[in-house]
Amino acid sequence: MKITNYINGSFSPPLSGKWLNNYNPAEGKVYGQIPDSDHRDVDLAVAAAKKAFKAWALTSLENRQRVLQKISDLLIVHIDRLAEAESIDNGKPIALAKSVDIPRAASNFRFFANAITQFASESHESIGANAINYTLRQPLGVVGCISPWNLPLYLFTWKIAPALAAGNCVIAKPSEVTPMTAYLLGEICTAAGLPNGVLNIIHGTGQSTGQAIVAHPEIKAISFTGGTQTGAHIARVAAPLFKKLSLELGGKNPTIIFADADYEDMLHTTLRSSFSNQGQICLCGSRIFVAAAIYEKFKADFVAKTKALKVGHPALSTTDIGALVSAEHLEKVISYIERAPAEGATVLCGGHRVTVEDAPNGYYLAPTIIEVPSNSCSLNQEEIFGPVVTLMPFETEDEVLGYANDVRYGLSATLWTNNLKRTLRMSTQLEAGIVWVNTWMLRDLRTPFGGVKSSGVGREGGFEALRFFTETKNVCLKY
Ligand code: NDP
Repeated sequence: MKITNYINGSFSPPLSGKWLNNYNPAEGKVYGQIPDSDHRDVDLAVAAAKKAFKAWALTSLENRQRVLQKISDLLIVHIDRLAEAESIDNGKPIALAKSVDIPRAASNFRFFANAITQFASESHESIGANAINYTLRQPLGVVGCISPWNLPLYLFTWKIAPALAAGNCVIAKPSEVTPMTAYLLGEICTAAGLPNGVLNIIHGTGQSTGQAIVAHPEIKAISFTGGTQTGAHIARVAAPLFKKLSLELGGKNPTIIFADADYEDMLHTTLRSSFSNQGQICLCGSRIFVAAAIYEKFKADFVAKTKALKVGHPALSTTDIGALVSAEHLEKVISYIERAPAEGATVLCGGHRVTVEDAPNGYYLAPTIIEVPSNSCSLNQEEIFGPVVTLMPFETEDEVLGYANDVRYGLSATLWTNNLKRTLRMSTQLEAGIVWVNTWMLRDLRTPFGGVKSSGVGREGGFEALRFFTETKNVCLKY
């Protein structure tokens, strides 16, 4: 299958005439081709977006809301086709795509269709000066949205929906590794009545297409989710152009388990927070710290449950762990596991490739638990982004707080305890943008989302996203 760019409401091949192969990671083979776009395609898209901007920015909120709501409805109408495309492209179990990724993409549009109607601005009376100030929140113009491969449509729409709701026109690039649902989104947007040029979807590599979006002088803001190194590069390119930047980057999130936690709930959820989506979620807890009093019991139970997870073809309903996204990524994850002996760490389970029936070339890896001797080893300091977690005991609250914070990342942290005072103390001191207590990845779209330290700059979600995608103007009116 060959997909094309979505520019000005039409589908068109790349101007370069060049194409990239798209792999099915479950089978380990090429199954499609995507445009290898460059700055010329981005220029065309920006011209279309600029032309569409004025009318879209002046479209009444009711009409904007109606179109976004329709996109949401159509995502659900086409859920089977989209879930299948996501699973084939990414290697994730189709059941996960159908229960999480696609419904969440629909929720993103539904949420921001409503949120924009509640987005208020402020006014201040300057008493004594006979003046009143009011604040306008105006769309920025043309904005760029760049997203990664791990939750393709989920994260793509998490950016596009608020950008459109706020009245911007968008140039969006999905990962070249997982472009399929982004392509289908173009069809859905046209069917929902989104005017031509309001959303433009360009496919290609980060170095060519992504770079052209970030460097384009007429694109006013970049909302980026991806790796920390890429984020730093984007910041360097965008800063001299004074672009607004939202950077959602990598993580190395701690899961901290105290002995007073509700054991079964904690065990079940920790399995999920470790290995969902093959561990390829920025929010996955990849460093597990367990109170010494329950360490050996937890270790035995967690290893047993992990060994019971079924690695299999993503199209099967019995599969818990699908394929990793690409051969390169599989090699990278394995290279981390191979460091274990040199770091004095012990692989407790997994650590090897799995050959799946009827798909011997797929990129499968057994879920892996590594017991580490210290938090300073590279297995605890570097983002692996696969079905690999580390395990370590701790004695005291201060000690584990030190481990949790002693890392360059600060995206999320999960705390398991029933002690209220400890919860309050620790959640205040954990260096993370998101803290979950006795749960994981429970998301309310109104809440701020993002990281600290090398996990990013800025917040998505709720009104934070609408603030990012608007410019603030104060008007001072003397009477
Ligand atoms: P990358 O940083 O490699 O890529 C992310 C996106 O940026 C892709 O679309 C990529 O294109 C593009 N890109 C790459 N280079 C450039 C460039 N020079 N200029 C502009 N765009 C570029 O990340 P991955 O796709 O590998 O995703 C995994 C990473 O994403 C992990 O580190 C993970 O933690 C992080 N992540 C963070 C989340 C958060 O909310 N904080 C959520 C989900 C993931 P292409 O793929 O075509 O190269």
